[in-house]
Amino acid sequence: MHAFADLIRTVPDFPQPGVLFRDITPLLADASGFADCIAALAAPWRDAGVQAVCGIEARGFIFGAALAQALGAGFVPLRKPGKLPPPVLAVDYQLEYGSDRLEAGSGALKPGERVLLVDDVLATGGTLVAARALVGRFGAELAGAAVIIELEALRGRERWIDGQPLRALLRY
Ligand code: AMP
Repeated sequence: MHAFADLIRTVPDFPQPGVLFRDITPLLADASGFADCIAALAAPWRDAGVQAVCGIEARGFIFGAALAQALGAGFVPLRKPGKLPPPVLAVDYQLEYGSDRLEAGSGALKPGERVLLVDDVLATGGTLVAARALVGRFGAELAGAAVIIELEALRGRERWIDGQPLRALLRY
């Protein structure tokens, strides 16, 4: 385990009963913890030729922007519906109750560009799989995905079934 794991707070029954919420805000507030986290996040991707880091709204923006700087790559936000001005490309995906959508500006990625996806938590994997589909709609090339926390019991990794690496810094 990385030492910065101690800076992640676990909150039972938030935002709804039965959810163990992983609160990364104490980690962000700790200068050396946050720096160590970004260094660890970047390390395996330094030679992966990443040209764009795509962060998933909202906590993926925080880690993704810092990671993009560390890798010398650009940053592209993948946003919830209605936040970006048109034109956008979008992918719809199913949640446990209902559905959601991710959008990116239609000129945000170029065909063949090497992309790394970033989010804070991998739970069921639905969000990351939708983000991968959205990157695919641009014809971009996926280098892989990076998350801070993988919740193993929710088996999101099983939905990420193909060759691209999916790396998690911490597993619970
Ligand atoms: P999923 O699509 O089920 O893999 O859920 C991943 C998304 O939901 C990420 O963007 C996380 O920010 C958020 N998320 C899911 N479960 C948790 C959790 N236990 N604690 C914090 N964030 C979570």
